Amino acid sequence: MATMRVVQVSRPRGDFEIVERQIPEPIAGTVRIKVEACGICHSDSVTKEGLVPGIQYPRVPGHEVAGVIDAVGPGVRGWAPGQRVGVGWNGGYCGYCDQCRRGAFFACVRGQITGITYDGGYGEYMIAPASAVALMPADLPPVDAAPLMCAGVTTFNALRNSGARPNDVVAVLGLGGLGHLGVQYAARMGFYTVAIARGKEKEPYARQLGASVYIDSLTQDPAAELLKLGGAKVILATATSGEAMSAVQGGVAPNGTLLIVGAAQSMQVSPIALLSACRSVKGWYSGTSIDSQDTLAFSARAGVKAMNETYPLERVADAYDRMMSGKARFRVVLALGQ
Ligand SMILES: [Zn+2]
Ligand SMILES: [Zn+2]
Repeated sequence: MATMRVVQVSRPRGDFEIVERQIPEPIAGTVRIKVEACGICHSDSVTKEGLVPGIQYPRVPGHEVAGVIDAVGPGVRGWAPGQRVGVGWNGGYCGYCDQCRRGAFFACVRGQITGITYDGGYGEYMIAPASAVALMPADLPPVDAAPLMCAGVTTFNALRNSGARPNDVVAVLGLGGLGHLGVQYAARMGFYTVAIARGKEKEPYARQLGASVYIDSLTQDPAAELLKLGGAKVILATATSGEAMSAVQGGVAPNGTLLIVGAAQSMQVSPIALLSACRSVKGWYSGTSIDSQDTLAFSARAGVKAMNETYPLERVADAYDRMMSGKARFRVVLALGQ
């Protein structure tokens, strides 16, 4: 019987274990993917550290998957072996609950999460529901595609649904894993793009990514600087500091939105800032498989790329520690070969 190597976690806070398993057969409604690359994301700590109740162990983490379909289960339509695909955080939806029937697939009451409710992409093969699969452009290398399945779709999908139009001022708060992609998307979408980060030394990189204006939040007041530009129609908050988010809210234009994708614990919101100019504070969920598919296609066409550090499967523990250290520039990816 053919076997595969996967990286599993056997219990909350357990070590990564590289184990041999039988290659699974896809059941009805699912496809089997030969994994070529899988991003390592801060959200993988949910599985590794057991941060939510109900995870069944052993579990294989990984929700930034790029690979090739190599087998298709019964009843699957529209997918075939040989197609290059990705799988992201949204691990599929039922299609028949009230949320799905309203088109809010992201809020499916039976929604699954890749690498949390079923085994993810830290391994040579994985099984995914067909509803979780995104088609990947032929010319996009798997290592480039993998982080776009999470950090990419989150920022791309938030921006394209933000209500901002070409030439509107759009600011991106934070220049890390999410932010360095957010700046590229904002610029390629035709927004007047402002990058806000800590320290003057990040300015050249921000401009290289496409920012027209750079605000150093260590020496400048970001809200005041944005108001000099007429205010930001949208501020995409990718930082994980609630304080940093609170500090920019005064820079939102009338009818504008502080759009939150960074997972901060809490933040201060000024009711007066909201009501005085019809400003909103809103969160954005990353996206479903079709959003990821659009993200990949747009990124390949527009030349949006994540900056990655790549590791082989054997070094998964080093790769995870590197990601958790916050020092990676900017995404960490496991490369599994072709
Ligand atoms: Zn992720
Ligand atoms: Zn549903």
